Amino acid sequence: MDSPVNLLDFDGDGLVAWFAAQGEKPFRARQVMRWVHREGCDDFAAMTDVAKSLRARLADVACVRPPVPLRDSLSADGTRKWLLDVGQGNAVETVFIPETSRGTLCVSSQAGCALDCAFCSTGKQGFNRNLTAAEIIGQLWLANHLLGAARAADPAIEAGEKDNGRLISNVVMMGMGEPLANFDAVVTALRLMLDDHAYGLSRRRVTVSTSGIVPAMDRLREACPVALAVSLHAPNDSLRDRLVPINQKYPLRELLAACNRYLTAAPRDFVTFEYIMLDGVNDQDQHARELIAIARQVSCKFNLIPFNPFPRSEFRRSPAERIRRFAGILQDAGIVATTRKTRGDDVDAACGQLAGQVQDRTRRTVSIRPSSEVSS
Ligand code: SAH
Ligand code: SF4
Repeated sequence: MDSPVNLLDFDGDGLVAWFAAQGEKPFRARQVMRWVHREGCDDFAAMTDVAKSLRARLADVACVRPPVPLRDSLSADGTRKWLLDVGQGNAVETVFIPETSRGTLCVSSQAGCALDCAFCSTGKQGFNRNLTAAEIIGQLWLANHLLGAARAADPAIEAGEKDNGRLISNVVMMGMGEPLANFDAVVTALRLMLDDHAYGLSRRRVTVSTSGIVPAMDRLREACPVALAVSLHAPNDSLRDRLVPINQKYPLRELLAACNRYLTAAPRDFVTFEYIMLDGVNDQDQHARELIAIARQVSCKFNLIPFNPFPRSEFRRSPAERIRRFAGILQDAGIVATTRKTRGDDVDAACGQLAGQVQDRTRRTVSIRPSSEVSS
């Protein structure tokens, strides 16, 4: 018998097409979609308003299968990190970051990353493969499920004191991997995030972060323009070539032009430039002044990210005073520059610390995963 089809692999149109191939009407697809994504239901028998005969058939030929959690870590600041099995010895990480007015889920798109940015733990792991759409949206499905279970068990939340609707209000594609290098599966997952029959998030609350794959930025603008964050990290080509090697292929001039093209369709009227603060490398006054020139070319905000160390990383985090001064230079020029609060670093869940478990197929690097990260 064929293995069951994982319904998490389909966006709305895909599910309608699959149902049509089973001789079923589009409204059936949407009904099941609501059960699966809105209700978090993985048991066809429980889908009470779906015809019994269809429920039985679905149980034979389909399934709802998210990745399996291998480990669940809770940080002292409430940040929660899951290590998820994606088969063949690979595991990826998903992080939930609760804040007073929102809850953000940081989602992975690849097992590892082939782009090899100098300061990134994921990059140092090498690359194994793209995640499927089911493995990407499955992270949101699973997080909703696991957080919902925690909510049900918390009497304060049950009493409505903390409950202001869904716990996950925002999704950022900032976990392991380069989302635009896994374009089709990421777009399928994004469409589900936005779909009113699924997660119903607004485009402004879903962010794709890219290191700057220019042609794919154009395709995303056409296919599914959500909020865009660009990992800038350097204000000129010679430094960016070194820190973010994809810059050698798509240099700053092309990247900035792509940002402007993207903004014609984007849900926000600015691009967020992420800028990692590396002590003595890209954090000098001169670098901030160069960034001012960039900000004059693209409507943007800056998000300064204090470097998060990982074993054998060759960089140091800029001192807090340096970051303040750097932000001040940008702000004095009228640029919005915020500094990202480091969250979850006690469980290695902070930006750039996600390592998961990657069977590197590029043989570019040896694994530097610390032994504490290895799950048996
Ligand atoms: N591949 C995408 C998205 C994943 S990385 C990208 O590069 O944009 C998410 C963010 O974390 C990026 O801005 C990335 O540059 C940053 N990051 C990577 N390593 C980091 C580290 N060690 N400390 C702080 N931020 C880091
Ligand atoms: Fe890949 Fe992003 Fe890490 Fe660069 S920063 S290696 S693009 S995950």
